Amino acid sequence: MRVVSGIQPTGNLHLGNYLGAIKQWVAMQHQAESLFFLADLHALTVAIDPRELAANTIEMAATLVACGIDPDTAILFNQARVPAHAELCWLLQGTARMGWLNRMTQWKDKAGKNREGASVGLFTYPVLQAADVLLYQATHVPVGDDQRQHLELARDIATKFNLDFDVALFTLPEPYISPAAPRIMSLRDGSAKMSKSDPSEASRIALIDSDDVIAQKLRKAKTDAEPLPGEAAGLADRPEARNLVGIFAALAGTSVDSVLADHAGQGFGAFKPALADLAIAQLAPIRDRLTRLLDDRAAVAAILERGAERARALAAPTLLEAQRATGLQV
Ligand code: ATP
Ligand code: MG
Repeated sequence: MRVVSGIQPTGNLHLGNYLGAIKQWVAMQHQAESLFFLADLHALTVAIDPRELAANTIEMAATLVACGIDPDTAILFNQARVPAHAELCWLLQGTARMGWLNRMTQWKDKAGKNREGASVGLFTYPVLQAADVLLYQATHVPVGDDQRQHLELARDIATKFNLDFDVALFTLPEPYISPAAPRIMSLRDGSAKMSKSDPSEASRIALIDSDDVIAQKLRKAKTDAEPLPGEAAGLADRPEARNLVGIFAALAGTSVDSVLADHAGQGFGAFKPALADLAIAQLAPIRDRLTRLLDDRAAVAAILERGAERARALAAPTLLEAQRATGLQV
């Protein structure tokens, strides 16, 4: 089993990113050979500030390490330092069809009505994603619902390439949906997901929030006036209450039912401080490690460089085979 997954280097990482994605990666690195990369090439598909991109790449790498990614176990790197991603992407552009990309809902959403003004990279984004995973013969790719369609496309591209060039080169990657990955909702609106791009700071707990800010945001989180029920079914039409109990369960590494078994009958006046204590106990060490790591950015860059060296070695044979298959190499 080999797992490959990427994340765009943007700022503002929050509790939803941690519990929904990063914590799953941390668990995964011990179960499978894992490659985790910062998708800085993907970041170029929209307008960026170059200095911010460079800083965000280091900060995101430091965040992953602070959250528990062990760069001696997993291979942690940034995409741009492994040129084979871009090289294989170009080869796959001959295989991918316009019609396939035109059907991608993310393209339709992100380009909106301004297709003529969108970057070409935004359109071919899923081809680079296909290269990202096919390059390493990934067997499994952790994906949220929004990325399923892109993984399906990667499988189509791999199948057509293998067929067109009569090779058994690319492994078809399977989606890996972590059964434990929760979806964390906004603290201000139980029907919207917690998100980096929500203009309200109070809607999310950032991984760099101080203890006081964490406690304050949870104290002010939207709730209802009912006490907690004894089991999960009792939260069915109480999205805000369900979210806070879900956050508790995810942080504690337990089930919603077991949290409710311990807190049934409690109002939020009692439950919120308990949740704040738990959140602070888990997030403060991450924040402190992150702060220390960012004191020495050169050391973080060195971690990425080591990861890129390992990734380049793994990528080389597949790129060479793809070049041979297409007649670019003998
Ligand atoms: P944006 O609003 O810009 O899309 P985001 O907060 O959704 O930002 P992404 O960078 O899109 O963050 O996602 C990074 C990872 O975090 C993805 O694996 C995504 O599925 C996961 N993730 C994002 N938000 C949540 C959430 N609220 N709950 C659980 N997982 C989440
Ligand atoms: Mg998102």
